[in-house]
Amino acid sequence: MTLPRKDLFDLPEGVIYLDGNSLGPVPRGIGDVVQRVLHDEWGTELIRAWNNAGWMEAPQRVGDRIAPLIGAAPGTVAMGDTLSIKVFQALAAAIKMRPDRRVILSDSGNFPSDLYMAQGLIGLVDDGWSLRTPAPEDLAEAITEEVGVVMLTHVDYRTGRLHDMQAITQAAHDAGAVMIWDLAHSAGAVPVALDASACEFAVGCTYKYLNGGPGAPAFIYVRPDLIGDLEPALSGWLGHEAPFAMEPAYRPALSTERMRVGTPPVVQMAMLDHALDVWDGVTMEEVRAASMALSERFIAEVEARCPDLALASPRDPSKRGSQVSFAYPDGYAAMQAVIARGVIGDFRAPDIMRFGFTPLYLDEADVIEAARIVTDVVNSGVWREPQFQVRSRVT
Ligand SMILES: *Cc1c(COP(=O)(O)O)cnc(C)c1O
Repeated sequence: MTLPRKDLFDLPEGVIYLDGNSLGPVPRGIGDVVQRVLHDEWGTELIRAWNNAGWMEAPQRVGDRIAPLIGAAPGTVAMGDTLSIKVFQALAAAIKMRPDRRVILSDSGNFPSDLYMAQGLIGLVDDGWSLRTPAPEDLAEAITEEVGVVMLTHVDYRTGRLHDMQAITQAAHDAGAVMIWDLAHSAGAVPVALDASACEFAVGCTYKYLNGGPGAPAFIYVRPDLIGDLEPALSGWLGHEAPFAMEPAYRPALSTERMRVGTPPVVQMAMLDHALDVWDGVTMEEVRAASMALSERFIAEVEARCPDLALASPRDPSKRGSQVSFAYPDGYAAMQAVIARGVIGDFRAPDIMRFGFTPLYLDEADVIEAARIVTDVVNSGVWREPQFQVRSRVT
């Protein structure tokens, strides 16, 4: 299979899309999928669709399609809810597995929602747990025997810096801690070997590199030997062993299904199922090799023309995920001006201009053109115009 596979996506004319790391574009044919669910399933079958159209099994089926993309065995991935909720579920289960410890360790580069969920959980259990967030480069020394849970995002959302999953998981286990990986910027971007890492939990979302659309369901992986003893904090009826027995007491499902909570988002699940077709016949290794080549080319083009943009990502492509960030003091306005010229990236406070490389629908010519526009905007100072200074809610 050769990359890119632009024919599998509906991208607007005249746009170079470097933000698939925030929201993947529309996979071609998804409208027909939605129409089918609305008309043939919901519209025609009504409540019967839960059985007739496979709505009840869809989360398992889709989880089994995500598993190979993250190096996990079938039956280990449950779908539903949002990533923030899945972070909470993993953390809540993990702290129960280490009753003699009181420290959750993350890092200061982690995505705020992951840290907020940890703070909320700590407040809820009110049992002496605390959250530590050293700088990512100081992690190794911070994994001590006080730590019960290490929770990290594999690829840093701001800089793209990639943690060494194997080595950190090993260090966490050597210290007696449970390991949780957030794969928000990894799933569909870089090869991940979850089973081989032996981490206890992993979580991720599907609207970034997996192109499931805004609001697509998140996923949670649980190492298979743990599921039987795992106590779900969010003990909803669809995680029950027999939801329709309507028993008064919660009894968790015997499989990864116990990480389900309530009614799954059926339409979004069908959209995601369709979006996953783009991975048929392409390996994550091919995608990774292509994304490294694209990002290397982008950096070279930008640096050759524009010394004012300071690379904020690791220079070694094997040490970063599928994004490249440049620090620029007026990065917000500069990014608005870049977007106005048809190159869509995004901005992360305080000063990061972020560009995602998604070889499924980007080629070398796109990257060269994007670099030309970015450097032209910065060098010309066009971003000083007032319309580029206005801040929107989403940056
Ligand atoms: C994108 C992202 C989130 C977003 O969480 P939602 O609940 O899906 O809004 C959380 N954590 C990380 C690390 C992310 O990159």
